[in-house]
Amino acid sequence: MTLGILGGGQLGYMLALAGYPLGLHFRFLDPSPEAPVGRIAQRVTADYGDHAALEKFANGLELVTYEFENVPVEAAQFLAQRVPVYPPPAALEAAQDRLGEKTLFRNLGITTTDFLPVSKTGEFDAAIRQLGLPAVLKTRRMGYDGKGQWILRTTDDVVKAKAELPKLHLILERFVPFTRELSLLAVRSRHGETAFYPMVENHHRGGVLRLSLAPAPSLDPPMQRAAEDIARRVIESLEYVGVLAIEFFENQGRLLANEMAPRVHNSGHWTIEGAVTSQFENHLRAVLGLPLGSTRPAGQCAMINLIGDLPEPSEVLGVPDAHLHLYGKVPRPGRKLGHVTVRAASPERLALRLSELPTFFHRPDFCLDSALSQSASQRA
Ligand code: AMP
Repeated sequence: MTLGILGGGQLGYMLALAGYPLGLHFRFLDPSPEAPVGRIAQRVTADYGDHAALEKFANGLELVTYEFENVPVEAAQFLAQRVPVYPPPAALEAAQDRLGEKTLFRNLGITTTDFLPVSKTGEFDAAIRQLGLPAVLKTRRMGYDGKGQWILRTTDDVVKAKAELPKLHLILERFVPFTRELSLLAVRSRHGETAFYPMVENHHRGGVLRLSLAPAPSLDPPMQRAAEDIARRVIESLEYVGVLAIEFFENQGRLLANEMAPRVHNSGHWTIEGAVTSQFENHLRAVLGLPLGSTRPAGQCAMINLIGDLPEPSEVLGVPDAHLHLYGKVPRPGRKLGHVTVRAASPERLALRLSELPTFFHRPDFCLDSALSQSASQRA
């Protein structure tokens, strides 16, 4: 049985690795000849808009899924006329436009920060007046990993933004003075079975995820239930199939939904070693209509992204229960090259293990030391 995957990055790579023990084969489509999945699966190198290539790609596939949410919706719809496509293209569409996404949350009664569309200069001034400063201006489309967004703190920033911003469709959001960032991974199968992983605490630098602590330290059950209730509303309204990630701000004990990703997610990499069933395996089970696996955590994990440069593997692997994942990409500044998951039986044990990581990991950009002192003070 061969599954097609749109996008050939590390998420696809890990989906394939989770699928091989289930006897699955994979065919990827990605415009880049550098896509890392080329090392382990069939890869079609073509643009998403190339109908002849899509036709050839779809031939003989059991179904198509994606690992990248900026796949053109039109490509997903074209494929859906030939093979089942999960998650549904409508979910892809909803997640691609920040305004549509926040409007969906609002329509489902899910709290978000206040936001307004900005398409004309007049709208920008009015939105700033209404929401106040600081505010966050974001492109509605194609924004990820902190790209396409600007924090406006002063009226000077507003003047500069007006002069420099391309004439794009934008969204202005009220800045959230959050206590922390959390994410929830939900999974729903073709038969409607649902499961949720425990929420994860995420640390970003420059809008890019650097560190996830899983389960989130000091996570109280009512907050987990509130997040699950939110995710349930989204997946039911979209008749969703597969893994869905929702990112939240925690502010004064409340959850504000920020965005969703209709795919497996970087904040779920810890599940490979840290949960009974990984997000990758559960995504495959969901799209194939197989029973979902347990999402129960197996201890306490930290997942650390390796961005731009790599540590010495032997130094990482010398730390007990540290697991190294390299994506086979050529190092480049800002590029996600791999991740390390460290697992332990308790938060205290995990803190100890993390302190044993080589000096490479104690640079401020890893967020490790700051996150550890924050969770130690939360525990105290
Ligand atoms: P996003 O692309 O929306 O996930 O934003 C990337 C990161 O920017 C988030 O993880 C936050 O750290 C920060 N951010 C985004 N929106 C806001 C907001 N409205 N208020 C405060 N910080 C934000």
